[in-house]
Amino acid sequence: MTHPLLIALDGPVSAGKSSLADAVARRFGILHLDTGAMYRAIGLAALRQGIDPADEQAVSGLLAADRVQVDVRFVDGHQQTLLDGQPVDDQLRSQQVGSAASTVSRYGPVRRYLVARQQAIARQQSMIIDGRDIGTVVLPDARAKVFLTASPEVRARRRYEQIRATDAAATYEDVLKELIARDKQDRERPLDPLRQAEDAVLLDTTALDFNQSVDAIVRIVEAAYGQR
Ligand code: C5P
Repeated sequence: MTHPLLIALDGPVSAGKSSLADAVARRFGILHLDTGAMYRAIGLAALRQGIDPADEQAVSGLLAADRVQVDVRFVDGHQQTLLDGQPVDDQLRSQQVGSAASTVSRYGPVRRYLVARQQAIARQQSMIIDGRDIGTVVLPDARAKVFLTASPEVRARRRYEQIRATDAAATYEDVLKELIARDKQDRERPLDPLRQAEDAVLLDTTALDFNQSVDAIVRIVEAAYGQR
């Protein structure tokens, strides 16, 4: 029997983590856990309960009182994120929920709760996990760790192309400004900040297209685990 594969994929906003992780998961026939969705679910829970995400005590109180439960299950190989037992994936992608997620992800009780759940999920099966702290905190022992990066301008361009289909008012300049602000917040927060693990391989996708980026990650994984 081959060893289970554990791949940690970290990087800043719009580095392409989620779609690359999906493609790499398909290549190896393993699951993809999107940890950002779990932070988004807690952000959504706060908004639903009328709690200001910036109110650290109230958000932490939700967890302490067991008034929020986030679970993940896989249906036909795809992640479903459950908030209090109900799938909520179709409600996690708005700007409002993204911003709430970014705020609540700074709180210790939120991070401890979700990191423990992510570690429990990863113990059960081979997977690629994407986030900000996977190589450093969630899976420090993972054999394959990739830290994705690309210039802010390239990431903003990719993100702008995605959102302008649904948001005619979006401008490239605004997207770039918001992205730089979120990068700064993720890198400078005291708890589990975004940073490259010492043993992670840095992959700069500025000059790579999607398929070249997938191939590069596959090569890093094969170098760590051998050919599958
Ligand atoms: O990746 P995504 O944009 O969905 O993540 C939402 C928010 O959750 C991010 O702003 C990030 O700060 C936070 N996050 C985190 N740790 C992770 C994954 C996401 O703090 N492992």
